[in-house]
Amino acid sequence: MNTKIIMVGAAGRMGGTICRLAAASENFDLVGMVDSKDRVSSLDRGICPVETDLAALLPQNPEAVVIDFTAPAVSLHSASVAAQYGNALVIGTTGLSEVQKEELQHIALTTPIFWSSNMSIGINVLVKILPVLTQALGEEYDIEMIELHHNRKKDSPSGTALTIGECLAGARGVKLEDVRCSGRNGIIGERPKGQIGIQAVRGGDVVGVHTVYFMGPGERIEVTHHAHSRENFARGALRAAAWMLGKKPGRLYGMADML
Ligand code: NAD
Repeated sequence: MNTKIIMVGAAGRMGGTICRLAAASENFDLVGMVDSKDRVSSLDRGICPVETDLAALLPQNPEAVVIDFTAPAVSLHSASVAAQYGNALVIGTTGLSEVQKEELQHIALTTPIFWSSNMSIGINVLVKILPVLTQALGEEYDIEMIELHHNRKKDSPSGTALTIGECLAGARGVKLEDVRCSGRNGIIGERPKGQIGIQAVRGGDVVGVHTVYFMGPGERIEVTHHAHSRENFARGALRAAAWMLGKKPGRLYGMADML
């Protein structure tokens, strides 16, 4: 059975890529596109129904999975609308505050929700491997990360950098918020032991590069992930949508569950 998809943020960079892949695939049916009033006119109404309000598409599509790549407040709104109609939802939006994440977790008690700050297989495999490296190298190795993204990205550091940072901090038994440094300027003195640096670079059309540095006495290891295009995130989101069919609500699902 094909997975029916409703895309929220369909006129965006990620939404557009997901719609294109879904429309070209034999396994997915794109049954609706949603975007804001000022962007919706750019969407092709010949492909499927187009709306500015997700609620207008859900009554006639009870089995559709909603995919949302927009902005934190919009994704939370999509989650409450999906919960109202019982539709499953896949969210790729980053930059959610702790309060917004808690709100999402709360909504996930009533409708199945999948959220991931990075839908690529490579990053999610990295998140499994980096703790092994962190523990094997030990506290003597300073950890820093640099992330590069295009000049239109709204949040910083990237959601992916924070996810990687949390996994590195977790491997050291600490919370990222207690050890993170995302900016150095002036007479800052010696680098505190145990600090994890995450610095953001913005420019051009870079899809996403994350490099983790483990710097020890006389040597350093660099682990880099390059996203070549948005397609790997889009394929991950579509795979998540198919995987969410028939899932029960109760908690927030993520890439670790699916992989
Ligand atoms: P974008 O700005 O190109 O697209 C966002 C779209 O959302 C726009 O078309 C905008 O008009 C639409 N939108 C805004 N308000 C809306 C509303 N009220 N209703 C419906 N649509 C609305 O951004 P993008 O590059 O596609 O990224 C979107 C999000 O996805 C960001 O948070 C980004 O960090 C994240 N992202 C996640 C992954 C991942 O793998 N999880 C990968 C890339 C980007």
